[in-house]
Amino acid sequence: MNGEKEARTGTVRTVTGDVDASQLGITSAHEHLLITAGAFVKLDKDFLLDDREVMAREIAAFTGMGGHTLVDMMPPGLGRDPEGLRELSERTGTLIVAATGFHKESYYDMAHWLYHYAAEQIAGLFRAEIEEGMDQWGYRGPLMRRTAARAGVIKIATDYYRWNKHTDRWFEATAMAHLATGVPIASHTENGVLGDRQAESLISLGVPPSSIVIGHIDKNADPYVHRELAAMGVFLQYDSPSRLKYGPDSDAVALIAAAAHHGYADQILLGLDFARRSYFPSYGGGPGLGYLLKTFVPRLKAEGLEEVVPLIFVDNPARALSFAGGAERDRQMMAASQERMPQ
Ligand SMILES: [Zn+2]
Repeated sequence: MNGEKEARTGTVRTVTGDVDASQLGITSAHEHLLITAGAFVKLDKDFLLDDREVMAREIAAFTGMGGHTLVDMMPPGLGRDPEGLRELSERTGTLIVAATGFHKESYYDMAHWLYHYAAEQIAGLFRAEIEEGMDQWGYRGPLMRRTAARAGVIKIATDYYRWNKHTDRWFEATAMAHLATGVPIASHTENGVLGDRQAESLISLGVPPSSIVIGHIDKNADPYVHRELAAMGVFLQYDSPSRLKYGPDSDAVALIAAAAHHGYADQILLGLDFARRSYFPSYGGGPGLGYLLKTFVPRLKAEGLEEVVPLIFVDNPARALSFAGGAERDRQMMAASQERMPQ
């Protein structure tokens, strides 16, 4: 292990309030629990995850195996449902972290505010969702309804080999919001491409690597590329287990083994990224949210990777989801959180 890595955990912002990172327990770092409308659903009805009852049942498959925290990675305007996530958290007893931010460019029409607002203005919108509450209407305007649920992560995304002046501005806005709040940042890479540029861009704008998660990179199952990324200090997120159309689970196992071998076991995160009805038994599909803990973990153990399991499911997400800024930020967040508590 690299002794220079930051070992501290801190405060994590969930849709029901701020918690000490030690309370997260077993965490899946990238999921989709509710998608109520938007570009995905318009593309394919399989993306419609609008039934809170059904999802509460699905979450039970995760909690039944000891899971405790889920990160919903849908950014505003694409069917994210802050009130629904809060209700799901309260009903199931799980902690849920929700996202502000933006998805890849091709999901937005040129009329979208992302193309027209200045970096400062976009940063202000992200900050308001982190500090005050997420807009139930996902900044689709013209009216807003700030909910009590606040965002705990900024989602960022790039398209396949596509980087332009808008990408620069959106990353700048993300860095500004991070520097003001300490919020962690988690990315979508298209087919695992441009993770290095995402990391370099944010780091050059002053974001510490320990606040950056590069996502979907198992879609480019190249251990050398991942080692280069890990050397920058960012988290590597593998989120294709069980989705065999992107490759067999042996890819993820081999990538985890390679990262661990090179001393990067404490920078790996896992998720399933199930964004379709067809991944959930209650919607008539499978394998459901129990997959990581029920099927993938035993496999990791059988393949000699037992010692990395507590790191990738507990210790690493606790650090990755913690707000940066040290003990003083933690103290302020917890004090402000007490004041926000109803009753
Ligand atoms: Zn996703």
